[in-house]
Amino acid sequence: MIVMKFGGTSVQDSAAITRAGAIVKGRLQQKPVVVVSALAKVTDQLLVMARAAGSGDRKTALSLSRALRERHYTTAGELLGTALFTQFHSDLGAHFEALDELLRGIAAVGELTPRTTDHVAAYGEILSSQIVAAAFSAHGLDATLVDSRECILTDDAHMRAAPLMEETGERLRAKVQPLLAAGRVPVMGGFIGATKSGITTTIGRGGGDYSAAIVGSGLGAERIEIWTDVDGMMTTDPNLCPDARRIKSISFEEAAELAYFGAKVLHPATVLPAIQKNIPVYVLNARNPSCEGTRIATRGPRSRTFFKAIAAKKRITIIDVAAPRMLLAHGFMRAIFEAFDRHGVSVDVVTTSEVSVSLTVDSNESIPALAADLAKLADVKYEGRKAIICLVGENLRETPGIAARVFGELSDVKIRMISQGASEINLTFVIEEEEVPQVIRRLHKAFFSDLDPEVFT
Ligand code: ADP
Ligand code: ASP
Ligand code: MG
Repeated sequence: MIVMKFGGTSVQDSAAITRAGAIVKGRLQQKPVVVVSALAKVTDQLLVMARAAGSGDRKTALSLSRALRERHYTTAGELLGTALFTQFHSDLGAHFEALDELLRGIAAVGELTPRTTDHVAAYGEILSSQIVAAAFSAHGLDATLVDSRECILTDDAHMRAAPLMEETGERLRAKVQPLLAAGRVPVMGGFIGATKSGITTTIGRGGGDYSAAIVGSGLGAERIEIWTDVDGMMTTDPNLCPDARRIKSISFEEAAELAYFGAKVLHPATVLPAIQKNIPVYVLNARNPSCEGTRIATRGPRSRTFFKAIAAKKRITIIDVAAPRMLLAHGFMRAIFEAFDRHGVSVDVVTTSEVSVSLTVDSNESIPALAADLAKLADVKYEGRKAIICLVGENLRETPGIAARVFGELSDVKIRMISQGASEINLTFVIEEEEVPQVIRRLHKAFFSDLDPEVFT
């Protein structure tokens, strides 16, 4: 069997869902399980309405919900035709009634917790999976809707829940495998799951890709296909650099580094279940299905370039921690990392000197509270609006002089932190956020522009 995951833009309206159906039809021999995201931008909108309700603004929350209802009705109506839509209308309507009830409750209490946030956010995938399953059936596919909350079991860390892989595998084999055996096409919502006691959870923004890998791992898929709106993983973000080229083949490790450091095309956790079961992942374009996309597998063929790709992660804050009295005392590092741990803040890049430590964190973490805690140990400064640039490639292991070439190209750019070596396949540094577009374009030009697109791997 295979897993086919369609992202938000690939199910954004009736035309996109029809295209997705045609792609699935072409793969029926391979027994696909289909995983879908919410219609494009819907998760963002649900979170806006949840926050409006949380601040007591019931009117805004309900009017946003009305707009969302219209969009889903229109999409379903176009896909199903009048007769089928009339039957289906009440199914969708019941979900919107429940969503409105939830928003009214949140507004009445005036408080939004991570748990209620998950309840609201999950509607994107609950609705999209229902529409896609109905549309596929109307277009001649034997589709069956599977409620992901009955299969994807997670812990209770709401908004970033971790899957319980063993229990999830058992559920998938009990509920989804028989459908495949009967020649049906199971359709599931990505991103959502439930705790063992049945409370709805979500696995983190962009998590639909991760869901696909969880399903693929649980069912022992031959391949996992991530259908999106670009031709594959590219040498850099095509929005920042129109010259970006498709990467034909890349290793799991390289793809994981790129995803973690900003290549939004793939959720960083996606490769973990795939590595464990050695299942290749393909990134493909639902608007250009004949393109081969990118194959992510154990070890890609050697590329001719120094790097496979360049990623940028914005909204980064640098925290500088300086030991008050000269030398970093024994135990100082441990105390710093314990503070990060207490606040549940994860660190991306670390550099140290004899007297100070610099660390980068995501700007949306609760930094003031963490800084206040760290200030008990040492002098603390923090500064936002930074970005991490990450150059990734297996060739970095063996090729000398790369750092000199990279920083030579950027001799006029203020580089705040540099890190190389932790994984041996990335070179990472921190710059001012506003410099990202020009730095990416310059590096891309320097390292990728003389490539023949046909030979690039
Ligand atoms: P989906 O909704 O299908 O999950 P996403 O918006 O999450 O799609 O990811 C696809 C987008 O990722 C692309 O449209 C592109 O703008 C962005 N992107 C960033 N970096 C890269 C990269 N290196 N290669 C391809 N796409 C990238
Ligand atoms: N709909 C979710 C999000 O927007 C998950 C996904 O699309 O992968 O974050
Ligand atoms: Mg995505």
